[in-house]
Amino acid sequence: MIELKLFNTLSRKKEVFKPIQKGKVGMYSCGPTVYWYQHIGNLRSYIFSDLLKKILQFNGYKVKHVVNVTDVGHLTSDEDLGEDKVEAAAKKEGKTAKQIAKFYFDVFLKDLKKVNVLMPDVWPRASEHIKEQIELIKKLEKKGFIYKTSDGIYFNSKKFRRYGELARLQVEGLKKGKRVSFGEKKNKTDFALWKFSFGGKRQQEWKSPWGVGFPGWHIECSAMGMKYLGEHFDIHTGGEEHIPVHHTNEIAQSECATGKKFVNYWLHGRWLLFSGEKMSKSKGGIFTLFELERRGYSPLEFRYLCLLTHYRKQLNFTLENLDAAQNAYKKMKRKVSELRKEEHKGNDFSEKYGEKFEEAINDDLNLPKAIQVVWTMLDDFDFSPKKKLKLLEKFDEVLGLDVEKMIEKKFKIPEEIKELVEEREKLRKAKLWVEADLLRERIKEKGFLVEDKEDGARVEKI
Ligand code: AMP
Ligand code: ZN
Repeated sequence: MIELKLFNTLSRKKEVFKPIQKGKVGMYSCGPTVYWYQHIGNLRSYIFSDLLKKILQFNGYKVKHVVNVTDVGHLTSDEDLGEDKVEAAAKKEGKTAKQIAKFYFDVFLKDLKKVNVLMPDVWPRASEHIKEQIELIKKLEKKGFIYKTSDGIYFNSKKFRRYGELARLQVEGLKKGKRVSFGEKKNKTDFALWKFSFGGKRQQEWKSPWGVGFPGWHIECSAMGMKYLGEHFDIHTGGEEHIPVHHTNEIAQSECATGKKFVNYWLHGRWLLFSGEKMSKSKGGIFTLFELERRGYSPLEFRYLCLLTHYRKQLNFTLENLDAAQNAYKKMKRKVSELRKEEHKGNDFSEKYGEKFEEAINDDLNLPKAIQVVWTMLDDFDFSPKKKLKLLEKFDEVLGLDVEKMIEKKFKIPEEIKELVEEREKLRKAKLWVEADLLRERIKEKGFLVEDKEDGARVEKI
């Protein structure tokens, strides 16, 4: 058995993974703020935690996975200022906060399924765990870690000696350095645990011992993580931007409340970039999965693209590299289809390739290397096709590329479809994009996918 090593942001080192309880893993991933569509950058983050979960399972662990849904309390600024993102969206779209959260969560679920991300065991919502969040703040109050300002209850970061350890924050420097305005807060790094609502403008607000209001964003993850995984659990994941603020604050409030270490391994996925910048809902210039599908890419081609870059490297997204991933994925499909038909016997190299694959994935999720192993194995003519396929199906428990369904069907394009495709080409030449898109949808309903390539339209059976 090859040891599983994970890069722990806490130590900035690859460490051998040791669970708290033998054979079991408790894992928490920071989930979506459900005020708009999740873009492919968000999806990269969930594909990363999915790969981690599947690798843990591949190693024989039973994983309990919790992913939170933020439907209240995430403000537009990390400085505890600005509007609540879900409330702002509700105002803009003329809907209730509940409707907004439900709508975008449902779309998100569909997207996750399309990219073969396993559902977590629990999807706790912040708005449904107000009691737990209040209880946690009460614990902090009892121990003297909080104070009140005119707009809320704050955590006093100066009282936690190890504040900022995860991010290697130079807190002293922050305190002494140029004095930037941070209002009534005592220290720049203090953060809101509870915010008061003023003037009844909010849709979501609750009574608390400190006044009517709503929880700050960070407290939900501590409260829900502890509720479902215990006060001390194994793994916590999130995006790289969570290191200096969100996760730093989670550690501070959790460890001050319980007096215990909160989490053993912190893993962070780096961003997906577009035009050199973080793909972000607030900046615009984003792609959703729907948009990729509209352009003729399949969700699993996007997943394949994610496998090609290690999670601790930023992925510079371009349509050209998605094209390359699409071609490689199709090539894999063709290869697998051919293997299914092959009769010849060959040797059994399952152990050799199995070990190489395991070595790669257990080395801090080195999926790019694992994909190389897959291709070397597929190209090994001496390896029995049947055994090769069986092994690839086993690898697919981690890769999630639907190897079992990879059968290239020979098909004939019916006359009716040919005519619709021709008609669509005419619309495209006339730059009637909306009409052309509608026709693509009609063709799709009839079971065919149209992709626009430089040399014209390509048709495939779905
Ligand atoms: P949000 O819905 O903005 O709270 O983000 C949900 C998750 O997606 C978080 O774990 C973020 O770290 C992650 N995320 C946001 N933008 C990106 C990006 N461009 N690349 C990778 N992950 C991202
Ligand atoms: Zn979180």
